Amino acid sequence: MNGTRQHVLILGGTTEGRGLAEALAGDPAAWRVTSSLAGRVAAPRLPPGDVRTGGFGGTEGLARWLREHAVDALVDATHPFAGTMSAHAAAAAAAAGVPLLGLRRPGWTPVPGDRWHPVDSAAGAAALLPALGGRVFLTTGRTDLAAFAGDAARWFLVRSVDPPEPPYPPRTEVVLDRGPFTYDGERALMTRHRVDVLVTKDSGGAATAPKLAVARDLGLPVVVVRRPPAPPGVPAVPDVAGALEWLRGGDQAG
Ligand code: NAP
Repeated sequence: MNGTRQHVLILGGTTEGRGLAEALAGDPAAWRVTSSLAGRVAAPRLPPGDVRTGGFGGTEGLARWLREHAVDALVDATHPFAGTMSAHAAAAAAAAGVPLLGLRRPGWTPVPGDRWHPVDSAAGAAALLPALGGRVFLTTGRTDLAAFAGDAARWFLVRSVDPPEPPYPPRTEVVLDRGPFTYDGERALMTRHRVDVLVTKDSGGAATAPKLAVARDLGLPVVVVRRPPAPPGVPAVPDVAGALEWLRGGDQAG
């Protein structure tokens, strides 16, 4: 992009979204940056620049926001599992004629020694658990707990940033924490609670990956919830460097 200061709206709530806001804030003459957060986390880590919080009111609300705030480029840096927001971003960007880029960290890949069981949903994960274990480390986030709520036969260690709200399984212990996590910390947690199966989304990224290495080393099965499909036709990059290149390159027509 050339000439005047460009307004970039980042749909965030992720490490990548914050990282991009930090990078753009370093050049305030070139970029005006607004980050958008859903407002789910009580005390979010705030990025530099302007921050707005809460839903836009669907596709039309986002398209209106893009026009009213003269947004030059939209970056969808939401979590890979925020499929609704990504779909809204694609439709709204098309409606408002604003270039859109997906900034999506790559998913994880199994390595030798992993005992992964891929499933398509939290419900699929819940259905698989009886065959795999009785003491579950459930790291899918508090919004997916309902799928496991009917399981009174297993004990669950639930980790989330904010306290979960019912419904969740009757035999649940909650640990409030947020990444990045370490191998030693994850190993101590899983060993202390005698966890025998791990449930995770394929979130990707380094911050929450150590639990996978611990599960491998302890020989534990891991139920991995696959990502929802990304919106078709939206260019995407795996990291902040790629997003900066796209923004600077002015090739947003693609
Ligand atoms: P979602 O199901 O895809 O989105 C549901 C609705 O929440 C959207 O339609 C939109 O409301 C609002 N919304 C979502 N992200 C928003 C954002 N960045 N700014 C403003 N409004 C937003 O989203 P989700 O899975 O609940 O995720 C919510 C937020 O948490 C996202 O920012 C995401 O990056 C972050 N997050 C999600 C996960 C996960 O596992 N899903 C994990 C870590 C972080 P309107 O239709 O009213 O605009």
